[in-house]
Amino acid sequence: YSNLNPNYNFENYIEGDCNRLARSAGIAVAEKPGITSFNPLMIYGGVGLGKTHLVQAIGNKIGSEGKKNFVLYVSSEKFTTQFTDAIKNNNIQSFTNFYLQVDTLIIDDVQFFSGKEKTQEMFFHIFNHLHQNGKQIIMSSDRAPRDLKGLQDRLLSRFKWGLTADLQMPDFETRMAIIMRKMQSDGIYIPDDVVEYLAYSVDTNVRELEGVLISLIAHATLNKTDINLELAKQTLKNIVHDIESEVGIDYIQKSVGEYFQISVDDLKDKTRKKEIVIARQVAMFLCKEYTNHSLKSIGYHFGGRDHSTVIHAVQSVSDMIDIDQKFAHSIDELKKKMRMKQV
Ligand code: ADP
Ligand code: MG
Repeated sequence: YSNLNPNYNFENYIEGDCNRLARSAGIAVAEKPGITSFNPLMIYGGVGLGKTHLVQAIGNKIGSEGKKNFVLYVSSEKFTTQFTDAIKNNNIQSFTNFYLQVDTLIIDDVQFFSGKEKTQEMFFHIFNHLHQNGKQIIMSSDRAPRDLKGLQDRLLSRFKWGLTADLQMPDFETRMAIIMRKMQSDGIYIPDDVVEYLAYSVDTNVRELEGVLISLIAHATLNKTDINLELAKQTLKNIVHDIESEVGIDYIQKSVGEYFQISVDDLKDKTRKKEIVIARQVAMFLCKEYTNHSLKSIGYHFGGRDHSTVIHAVQSVSDMIDIDQKFAHSIDELKKKMRMKQV
């Protein structure tokens, strides 16, 4: 009755910059529950970024090491319901006794305790008891402790005793690895260009990435076709409604801005700083290549510049591609991103 799902383990929890600290702290805790200074261990991050997977992987790893350690996973919502029921049924004593026997308590989504004073009091009591007895506590939350509203200060200060680690959205390479891992475990083949396309396109959260993958597989099965880029684009278009399906000036400006870490406003502005000028020229170059806008219109969208400025930009970028390998590589990456977008 530990409530753990065995499918959530470390083997299938792909490592990346997005989760390195949280993941390795999790492994350390699993190897020595209650003994490391990571007590409590608090994992936080946005929806679908792998909190539940990680905290359950810790629990499963503790269970698999053959130690005598009673691991309990419970969502904060369930904890609250159990507690409320216990009050109603006059069962507080057995509720408390049950929780005090736990060796490793994993409590998911503690933001749910917000505003629930009585539940927080109960949890505070259990937390203190377990912690004093060297038991491990692992928590997750959808935001950093300092941003948790409606939680009592004394509880928040306890959360800071141990280690707090965040989860971010995986970068492109990690997303590729997640997709490939999923392919492997499901025994499904997905061509490389489709894997790349999905990893490029779905940058919201991992659950959504998995959702797109599942729909794609379902579509292919239903239509009795192979999985290919065309189908992937179609599938994504149906799922993600607000996705622009066309490479337009806005999209190019946004992509180039992100790539060079420059704001879109700067791209349109008069600034003559070298790195901004180069990024602006790259953006103009891509607009010429990927949109049907006239040179005049492109110039207009970059702060009302003349069409001759656009011609000059296109020429400069072409020249630089010839002489600067690193620059050429950047252009290739951006072009790839543009092609991925085109349906
Ligand atoms: P959260 O609890 O933060 O909302 P979940 O733990 O439910 O997110 O993760 C959403 C989905 O994404 C799950 O199916 C999970 O297995 C998967 N997932 C998240 N991060 C990773 C990762 N690093 N490697 C593999 N799968 C991941
Ligand atoms: Mg969760």
